[in-house]
Amino acid sequence: MTTILFVEDEAPIRDLVRFALSRAGMTMLEAGDNAEAERLLASRRPDLILLDWMLPGGSGIELLRRLRRNPELRDLPVIMLTALAEEEQKVRGLEAGADDYLTKPFSPAELVARIRAVLRRATGADEQGRLRFDSLELDPATRRAWCRGHPLQLGPTEYRLLHFLIAHPGRVYTRAQLLDYAWPPDEAREERTVDVAIRRLRKALEPHGAQGLIQTLRGAGYRLDHA
Ligand code: CA
Repeated sequence: MTTILFVEDEAPIRDLVRFALSRAGMTMLEAGDNAEAERLLASRRPDLILLDWMLPGGSGIELLRRLRRNPELRDLPVIMLTALAEEEQKVRGLEAGADDYLTKPFSPAELVARIRAVLRRATGADEQGRLRFDSLELDPATRRAWCRGHPLQLGPTEYRLLHFLIAHPGRVYTRAQLLDYAWPPDEAREERTVDVAIRRLRKALEPHGAQGLIQTLRGAGYRLDHA
């Protein structure tokens, strides 16, 4: 499920956005200021951050700049919310690394459309939201995956892991990071379970000769990359 972190101090706007996102099948995490957002980001990795410009105790743009300097978070897509008629904010937001911006007030439909467009760009998904890497294809809408066009039989854990890896190919992730990013927060957090899921994923790819796409980096972690 797509998870959006909304950083905004105004409760009515948070309520509006939470409702719009849940209707679109997305989950919302929320933070009222930068400090709360950073605490949350230390343990959860949302798919996208919706970041208000006007926040108490430090503006959204300050958080955006810090995210872009953080090697683990710099690739997280960010949509900035700006106040009406503040053209300068839009320019500064985009310069600081925002993927898009939305002017308040906005319609829920427009918000959801922008989020989907930015997520498609960020993950390399096509118009239907399908993700592809090498011989792999994954459809989040139906939770199905294929290798060279053949359906893969994956358990829910392996599916989530593949979904995360295919959205972030070519990068190494430690076991702890994979637990943070690709496992539900309420599940037991043992690094061994990552190894088990990786092994099952490779086994599912083996009949298609694609097990080499899931690579082990000794002492570091795992990576999805061309064999
Ligand atoms: Ca605000």
